[in-house]
Amino acid sequence: MLNLKKVSKVYEGKVTYRAITDINLTIDEGEFVGIMGPSGSGKTTLLNMIATIDEPTTGEILINGNKPHQLKKDELAKFRRRELGFVFQEFNLLHTLTVEENIILPLTLDGVNVKEMKQRAGEAAEKLGITEIMKKRTYEISGGQAQRAAVARAMIHHPKLLLADEPTGNLDSKSSKDVMEMLETINQKDDTTMMLVTHDPQAASYCNRVVFIRDGKLYSEIHKGSSRQAFFQKIIDTLSLMGGDAHDLSSIRV
Ligand code: ADP
Ligand code: MG
Repeated sequence: MLNLKKVSKVYEGKVTYRAITDINLTIDEGEFVGIMGPSGSGKTTLLNMIATIDEPTTGEILINGNKPHQLKKDELAKFRRRELGFVFQEFNLLHTLTVEENIILPLTLDGVNVKEMKQRAGEAAEKLGITEIMKKRTYEISGGQAQRAAVARAMIHHPKLLLADEPTGNLDSKSSKDVMEMLETINQKDDTTMMLVTHDPQAASYCNRVVFIRDGKLYSEIHKGSSRQAFFQKIIDTLSLMGGDAHDLSSIRV
């Protein structure tokens, strides 16, 4: 599904900075993979390259057999819209629109008719438990509801790959849990491949596999066994072995 071959990223500027070095990573269809590491370790850089928001300096990224970084601008826009879904820490909803209008926004770009858009928005809202807030504006809803609306928007065109950068970063523990449970359900029911960048061990414990990076390089990876609790503990242990600010466990909750 996703294949990274010796991917590196160097930021050029007054000082050149090597943010990612020779990362090889394969994610299979249907996997739910977490990326963890201390702040500044290159997680967002890595995600942005996969999201085609940024380009690798060297190396190759294949998504579902495509090389998106070699596509022309308009083809890339279409690829991004059809194959990828995004969820960010800041929700990125448009405040002048209702929740429903936000959710159907990706479909309006693809010329889907209104009846079908509303039907698909309704289905997504039901899945995410936000049916009753569809007519509200974004300032009338809670952070947890906003992030669920953002997930609905990301899922409405059934992306093959959902990319999330700190989706629980602005949420309280109850809302984080809700959002992670929704993502887990979508991953299992729709077989959507997911990649989640997070520094929250609790959020990461919903993944099937967690890949740790440090100083822009792969550090280690661990797999979930049968218990989320045990996986959570393994994540904490790996973070404390890694050092850096990754052992900031102020947000622990199970
Ligand atoms: P993380 O998400 O793990 O906190 P980032 O990927 O945001 O880390 O950043 C990795 C490193 O690359 C950091 O040292 C950061 O300062 C640097 N960096 C990120 N974006 C840029 C940029 N646009 N230009 C220069 N340096 C950057
Ligand atoms: Mg980041």
